[in-house]
Amino acid sequence: MTRRDYLIASLGAAAKPLFAGEPWGVPVFDIHLHPRGESTELAHMEGSGVDRAVLLGGAIGLEDHSRKTAQADPKHFVRFARIDIMAQDAVRQLTAALKGGAIGIGEMKYAVDVDGPEMRRVYAVAAEFRVPVLFHLEEGNFNTGIRRLPALLKAFPKTTFIGHGQTWWAHVSSEPGNEKGYPTGPVKAGGLTDRLLADYENMYGDLSAGSGRNAVSRDKDFTTPFLTRHRAKLMFGSDCPCSDGRGGGVKAGNCIARQTLAVLKELASPELMRQITWENTVKLLRLGH
Ligand SMILES: [Zn+2]
Ligand SMILES: [Zn+2]
Repeated sequence: MTRRDYLIASLGAAAKPLFAGEPWGVPVFDIHLHPRGESTELAHMEGSGVDRAVLLGGAIGLEDHSRKTAQADPKHFVRFARIDIMAQDAVRQLTAALKGGAIGIGEMKYAVDVDGPEMRRVYAVAAEFRVPVLFHLEEGNFNTGIRRLPALLKAFPKTTFIGHGQTWWAHVSSEPGNEKGYPTGPVKAGGLTDRLLADYENMYGDLSAGSGRNAVSRDKDFTTPFLTRHRAKLMFGSDCPCSDGRGGGVKAGNCIARQTLAVLKELASPELMRQITWENTVKLLRLGH
């Protein structure tokens, strides 16, 4: 059976994962799939071997696409809400999206402080609805202030935070100069991200994008113990711009989802990998199966 035949067959058999663990040996949930314009979300999932995905709220216009896609195909998609946090009625908009079927908030990527008033009201709504907030941390650009996260996590104990982005993943290492970019080389123990995941129950990590891929591939001696330490806190995500899950349509010619999954397969046991690619996301989003 070709992958395409399998896709069509499994769309008929509702509850089954798309690819039943093929080709990774475990089912895969992508917590970071942006709604697309031309190519479909399913094409990326099919190509990279992803069974189910969180559609993140997108640019204005794609929010509607995201809602319709998740409603039409709930076996493969759930969705998060993204609203313009600068809007005066941001809380009203967010509340409406969560009442309308969104089961999380994100990706939140605005040029504000991570602990400023705009984001604080988002965290409060997240606690009220018991849904996680996925935020992009990139010092100086988006959600600035990673060093103030300890106080923020304490101030919002009922809010679940999912960290993602350059600054978040650079800080797996305690070396200086982690504010931006994709640092390479050996990880120095005691990084802020490592500590936050260990010390705060409400802090999780989304392994998506070049930043997540970099964090798990830059120093293989670091990776397996790190994945093991935070085995209940880490979730696979793609945030990949390629069109087909095989590197199509992007300059680099590769798929971030495939690359990160290959690293996990190499460095984690099947049980550990399954927890990160599937179980943690199902549990956090209370999908119950
Ligand atoms: Zn991002
Ligand atoms: Zn891709």
